[in-house]
Amino acid sequence: MTHQYGSRTAIVVGASLSGLMTALTLSRTGTRVTMLERSANKSRTGAALPVRDGLLERLTGRRQTGGTAVVPSGAQAWADVHAALRATVLTDPRIRLRAPVTVTSVGEDEQSAWARTGTGETLRATLLVGADGHGSVVRPHVSPEAPRATFSGYVIWLGLVGEASIASRPWPCDLAILYEEDYCLNAYYLPGADGSTSPGRRRIGWGWYDAGHNDLLRTSEAVVGDVVRRTLRPERMPDTLFEELADTARRLWPAPWREAILHGLSERAVIGTPIGEYLPNRLATERVCLVGDAAHLPSPMTGSGFAASSEDALALAEALELHGSVSEALRSYESTRLQPARRLVRSGQSFSHSFAPYGAAQ
Ligand SMILES: Cc1cc2nc3c(=O)[nH]c(=O)nc-3n(C[C@H](O)[C@H](O)[C@H](O)COP(=O)(O)OP(=O)(O)OC[C@H]3O[C@@H](n4cnc5c(N)ncnc54)[C@H](O)[C@@H]3O)c2cc1C
Repeated sequence: MTHQYGSRTAIVVGASLSGLMTALTLSRTGTRVTMLERSANKSRTGAALPVRDGLLERLTGRRQTGGTAVVPSGAQAWADVHAALRATVLTDPRIRLRAPVTVTSVGEDEQSAWARTGTGETLRATLLVGADGHGSVVRPHVSPEAPRATFSGYVIWLGLVGEASIASRPWPCDLAILYEEDYCLNAYYLPGADGSTSPGRRRIGWGWYDAGHNDLLRTSEAVVGDVVRRTLRPERMPDTLFEELADTARRLWPAPWREAILHGLSERAVIGTPIGEYLPNRLATERVCLVGDAAHLPSPMTGSGFAASSEDALALAEALELHGSVSEALRSYESTRLQPARRLVRSGQSFSHSFAPYGAAQ
């Protein structure tokens, strides 16, 4: 079935970064979009995202003018990028964001794709996009033979602190990647909450890769079997863990990163994200496709999950603009994005195999 742009509708499951970016590119093609997001609030402490120049213009196809949200380029805090994309989505008359709404299953036939929600509602649209992250409920529909991302055998402790909260000389460049003993630390400067990039007014983000606490991940059920279930929040972390990480930080990491980590630990402002990976064989069916971490889950060590998600959003819209039929467009989207996505995940897997050689078994 072919569709005039004006009559095409889409359901996007998940309204985090890749869902928001995809809703914007779909809207640009004239598609009316309903977004379904299970959580009312979302934040990822400490993670930094590389934002290319002109990202929002590319996604929306419009020049950004005064008064509209801006996504500054360079390394940006996850929460700032999320807030700017969300603000742009909320002002787009073709996009409706519904939250909290949990999608429990999806399906399709020749006429439409559908999502069923936790309250028993069924929504239908011309196409459905799974932007629902590592534990995607859409992925089993697209790839029933390989539905799950698997735990890679390590956790990342993440924190974010204002530079003004610590007394320490700045690091000479914006990013440090340090290896000591069995650990790896990524630490970086991010603009301050007011956008300032002046020394003393920035924020410091850090991600500490650790393959030595898998027992804790399992006893807390953050990881079950070989599947990542959830992020460890500070209230579920024992005091002994904070003390142990602080002792290790004092011994291994140089200033100012050490001070930033110690401050985060003392404030209990640290989360632990167990890392999973997913190498895709497929990205789409006739009416359902995957984008972002639902489609391909690379180790954060690649630093490219966000860029890959924006490429998905752009490629999907381009395919829909080129092809009259949704199934042809989704085939074209898959053929554009599958191999780059596989290369990205493989590059992360080589880091994971050397960093945590025993993987989930450890
Ligand atoms: C610790 C960490 C560090 C990272 N660092 C970097 C980095 O340095 N550089 C980089 O480029 N990338 C990095 N990434 C990756 C990057 O954040 C992601 O690739 C990018 O944000 C895209 O995520 P997403 O929107 O696809 O998925 P997610 O952020 O997981 O969002 C999925 C959304 O779907 C919702 N959802 C899930 N299931 C349902 C359901 N059933 N019904 C309704 N809603 C649902 C969730 O609530 C969530 O809002 C990092 C990731 C992590 C975990």
